[in-house]
Amino acid sequence: MKSLSALRSLIAGTFLAVAGLLSPLPAAAQSAYEAPLPADINTNPDLCASLPCQEVMPGADSFSERMGKPTYVEAYRTGNGDKQLVGYVFLSTDIVDIPAYSGKPVITLIGMDTQGIITGTKILRHSEPILLLGIPESVLTKFVNQYLGKYVGDKIEIGKGRDEEGYIGLDAITGATVTVIAQNQVVMRSGVAIARQVGILKVEPKPAIRFSALDEKLDWNQLVKEGSVQRLTVKPEQLGMARDSQPYVDMHFGYLNTPSVGKSVLGDGGYRNLMSRLGPDEHAIFIVSNGSDTFKGSGFVRGGIFDRVQVGQDMDAYTFRDLDYLPLWGLEAAGAPSYKESAIFVIRDPGFSAAYPWKLVFLANKLDRETGHRDFVSFDREYWVLDKYQEAGRPTVVKPDAPWVRVWKMRALEIGLFAALLVAVAVVYASRDALTRRSTRKNKWPVNAFKYTFWVISIGFVGFGLLAQPSITQVLTWFHSLLFKWEWELFLTDPFIFLFWIFIILTTFVWGRGLFCGWMCPFGSLSELIYKVSGAIGLKRFQFALPMKWHNRLKWVKYGVFFVLLAVSVFSMGLAEKLAEVEPFKTTFLVGMFNRAWPYTLFVAVLLGLSIFIERPFCKYLCPLGASLAMPSTFRWFGLKRKQECNSCKACAVGCGSLAIDEHGRIDHRECMHCLDCMILYTDEHACPPLAQERKRRTKAGLPLTPIGKDGYYIPIKPVPAAKA
Ligand code: SF4
Ligand code: SF4
Repeated sequence: MKSLSALRSLIAGTFLAVAGLLSPLPAAAQSAYEAPLPADINTNPDLCASLPCQEVMPGADSFSERMGKPTYVEAYRTGNGDKQLVGYVFLSTDIVDIPAYSGKPVITLIGMDTQGIITGTKILRHSEPILLLGIPESVLTKFVNQYLGKYVGDKIEIGKGRDEEGYIGLDAITGATVTVIAQNQVVMRSGVAIARQVGILKVEPKPAIRFSALDEKLDWNQLVKEGSVQRLTVKPEQLGMARDSQPYVDMHFGYLNTPSVGKSVLGDGGYRNLMSRLGPDEHAIFIVSNGSDTFKGSGFVRGGIFDRVQVGQDMDAYTFRDLDYLPLWGLEAAGAPSYKESAIFVIRDPGFSAAYPWKLVFLANKLDRETGHRDFVSFDREYWVLDKYQEAGRPTVVKPDAPWVRVWKMRALEIGLFAALLVAVAVVYASRDALTRRSTRKNKWPVNAFKYTFWVISIGFVGFGLLAQPSITQVLTWFHSLLFKWEWELFLTDPFIFLFWIFIILTTFVWGRGLFCGWMCPFGSLSELIYKVSGAIGLKRFQFALPMKWHNRLKWVKYGVFFVLLAVSVFSMGLAEKLAEVEPFKTTFLVGMFNRAWPYTLFVAVLLGLSIFIERPFCKYLCPLGASLAMPSTFRWFGLKRKQECNSCKACAVGCGSLAIDEHGRIDHRECMHCLDCMILYTDEHACPPLAQERKRRTKAGLPLTPIGKDGYYIPIKPVPAAKA
């Protein structure tokens, strides 16, 4: 009971300290991080009534109502009694839905003059954690200000040095590559969409589809299998609702003008009838749907608009009114499923070409569980008439890479080097038997040369260079993703962290957490290097370890920290991210100790200062990431070797800086940092007491010191039978 209450007070103390550190957070309330926005931001016809349009269109004194598809407003300046059109203002989320690092879009208000020159950009709301606690938000503002004065038709890319290819390069933000790549797409694609709509940029009309002579009847399964019928499913959890086995909507859809598809779905008569009702530039799609909700939208009334589905092609969006709707009387294709809701929609815009890919878009409101705020989200599925149904096959289409693909391409060399480093660490550790055999207690260099080299690389290249320090926030994000919505993109956006986690997961289950923590964690390496260097320069006499009794109590604190963070994250990821500042990683590597408010700097300074005297104090007692990896280490496949004599001999335990060897000689692999000191001792026939004893016995008896056991280094300790001797 006593130790339980001690543990409770320790946990409480830790969190009070963290809360104290967090209290002087600089003006987070005024930032755009998760800033509350008007509930009708995407629908209010008077966009500028609640948004600062003048800030992005200086000189304008009045604005029109929302117009166009996608929507924008016109900006006017009044002079001599005249209202003169000076430009356009638009909201990024009305036009594109490009998630940034957080998986949510950065909502941006953009101004553009009548010549297509960007006049202003203002970030209204973002959810980028790095900009909340790491990089100051002003850096993002500085980044988006680079667009001012740029022509919307220019090829603008992140990163300098592409000028010779006709690109204009923008300065990126170190540590927020994904955010800026996504933001570049947001600004440029929004600008192009509006510039095309208002005639600043010419739209090259796409050639219309020409069908091949192929005319065959297919059953439903064949249609689905070949891709002529596509499926778009939205689950309740994707909209912030409780998980349910029934999807929110589950739509099958297809393009009916294609003779084979139209005749298979509608039957010959139905197809002929439909085609007779379509004009030359008109296209019909069908949708059938199941699920707990409707794709037609409850807001739909006669004369209204179907506000939940639309068709998108490039930057254009085609919405449907009641005049574009035809009833679908049934599915003729054999094996077609039953459905709850159906429709045929007609696209009547000559800008649409079925020869090119398009997508069915489902629009919905998503409830943000933390803020209670409803965000406008869209889900889509691509559709492209198959090669065999187009006379000349599918035209060539160059699609822009997803932001995460761009990051992988941009940093291919560093990614390759990092991957090689991880493989090298694993190979060296896998060869530990050979290395420890070549080392002795007095000469540990065969092991230490590798270990120290990897520490230096992990601090310099991985930590300060790549900013790839794994963090407990990633574990919490995964946990959240598993609970609510798994998105690979979210994890692929940071290639180094992605690769690092593959390494961490694999090595933790094979050998335990020690390979990552003891050899590759940038902060752990920094902490231990400080300890070793301090010892080497004469401070050894001040260095100490906590008594085992205290160590055995305090080591549980890190598990408490981990579980508190996990519990908090279920209710509020934002708060959990703030509390995760108990990790000194952001201050040390991402932002730099001298770029943060003093409490953060002080916290890191204390931890690193303590590392002079105690080996890895943060790793042993506080690190929630270490705790999260320690638990699965219980189930590692391979442990470190032990002899029967280890049970009574304490020699290894004395030298274990991690205090991971108990009084019975057992290694606690949850605490072990795989320093291999005990493994060096294990094979050192001069330092390992049972081996030394055996060596002396054999020498005295004139017995050979080898052969050693069949694994090449184990000296059988048990006495050799007299007869054989
Ligand atoms: S315990 Fe934490 S800081 Fe220490 S090495 Fe492991 S992950 Fe890094
Ligand atoms: S000495 Fe301790 S930390 Fe190092 S490998 Fe052995 S048990 Fe692990």
